[in-house]
Amino acid sequence: MIGPELDTLIGLFAKLPGLGQRSARRAVLKLLQAPQTRMLPLARALAEAAMSVKTCAQCGNLDSQDPCGVCTDQARDRSIICVVESVGDVWALERAGVHGGLYHVLGGTLSPLSGTGPDDLNVAALLSRVQDGSVAEIILALSATVDGAATSHWLTDRLAGTSVRVTRVAQGVPIGGALDVLDDGTLATALRARR
Ligand SMILES: [Zn+2]
Repeated sequence: MIGPELDTLIGLFAKLPGLGQRSARRAVLKLLQAPQTRMLPLARALAEAAMSVKTCAQCGNLDSQDPCGVCTDQARDRSIICVVESVGDVWALERAGVHGGLYHVLGGTLSPLSGTGPDDLNVAALLSRVQDGSVAEIILALSATVDGAATSHWLTDRLAGTSVRVTRVAQGVPIGGALDVLDDGTLATALRARR
């Protein structure tokens, strides 16, 4: 029914997170209805981003420059590093505007089941960042999962011999959330973390 070019395009869209075949067809159709004003600007923006994207050698963030915009921002507190799993977590924290320090993107969590060990993560760079003594606090902001908790424990152990203070983001009742819909683990953690 449709040509191979469009088939390929829909197939590429369908691989994106949150899009299946149906959403991909709708997105491609929307683009095809305005090739000059929607499709070409998207194609150009994609090509430019693909050519310019770099991984920050200091923190693992993705940006068009290395070191990234966060690492080069002199207004940020360089003594606090927030450790996250992915670049998406950096974006989320930046959107919230709640962290004025630097970041370190691990690239995942330790996971014995999927075979992810310390060497597969951006850990060595983190340990070397705390060596010069300029970092006062490491905030561990990893997933509230078994692997996330195990990774936080492991990192805390690795940082124990340094002068860095290691803290963790709190877990508990979400803002606007009702207690009776929370799972038992979240409720128990929230109660233990009361202040
Ligand atoms: Zn950076």
